[in-house]
Amino acid sequence: MVTSNALASMATDGIRTGRSAHRSALEAGRGPSAGASLAAADADVDMAGDRIVARDVHVRYGDKVALRGTSLRMRANTCTALIGPSGCGKSTFLRCLNRMNDTIDDAHVTGEIFLDGENIYASDVDPVAVRRRVGMVFQRSNPFPKSIFENVAYGPRRLGTPKRELGELVEQSLRSGGLWEEVKDRLDESALGLSGGQQQRLCIARALAVDPDVLLMDEPASALDPIATAKLEELIGELRARVTIIIVTHNMQQAVRVAQHTAFFYMGDLVEAGTTDAIFNSPKEPKTADYVSGRFG
Ligand code: ADP
Repeated sequence: MVTSNALASMATDGIRTGRSAHRSALEAGRGPSAGASLAAADADVDMAGDRIVARDVHVRYGDKVALRGTSLRMRANTCTALIGPSGCGKSTFLRCLNRMNDTIDDAHVTGEIFLDGENIYASDVDPVAVRRRVGMVFQRSNPFPKSIFENVAYGPRRLGTPKRELGELVEQSLRSGGLWEEVKDRLDESALGLSGGQQQRLCIARALAVDPDVLLMDEPASALDPIATAKLEELIGELRARVTIIIVTHNMQQAVRVAQHTAFFYMGDLVEAGTTDAIFNSPKEPKTADYVSGRFG
């Protein structure tokens, strides 16, 4: 866990431009009851137990529709898996959750996504501030061509964390990323010399270093061997106590192992969402039953 000192020194602006005072309400409201303290932000959003609520999200790339009216609640300190065959809109939806689709030229997003009661698509919201609170880990690990230390220190440094606090923050983040013991004697070595699994955990540590509330993972284990995958899944189980995790996976066994909630997408529609147990053992929709039983996909 990152120390309160180090955190206090980070920039603490809210996600809305020019509303830094609001951040203190956000900070105070962390956790399942956050909605109550944010009633002033969007009074009609019932966030009880939820970290993110998506309402009627549509996405198209140019003329091509990728998501049709997705509504989904993602509970705090829970891992939610997004499953479905390739091309059905999972990654597109994931990218909506931290406004990463903003960076794709022909992507058009409509609908509302509330993070602790605030609509991250409101006109006065700063997408960069959203991405600090909603971090992302990609399919292919993407460490910077810098040292292990500098990879993790990068975000806090940009947020103005004093140099004297960086060492402790980097250690804590690497511990949280399950990597400290493996790298503590080689922090100055290039991150590119780490194995694939280590690089992926480094990227997680780097994301954690700015103390996000949510971590998005887009098929984070698809390039890893079984041992590295098992480590990553164990890490997801530990991190859930601290951050809300939303993971895209094409591996149904992985969803069962790591996720408490699962959402099944098919051809741009969210077909069904519920507890992982319900989705895999007693799905309501025939399409879900066909998919989880391996009849297609
Ligand atoms: P999944 O994650 O389920 O594999 P995606 O969200 O990646 O699905 O893709 C959903 C649909 O949107 C697909 O038809 C895909 O080809 C299309 N798509 C995804 N990204 C882009 C993009 N940057 N430009 C155009 N079309 C895209």
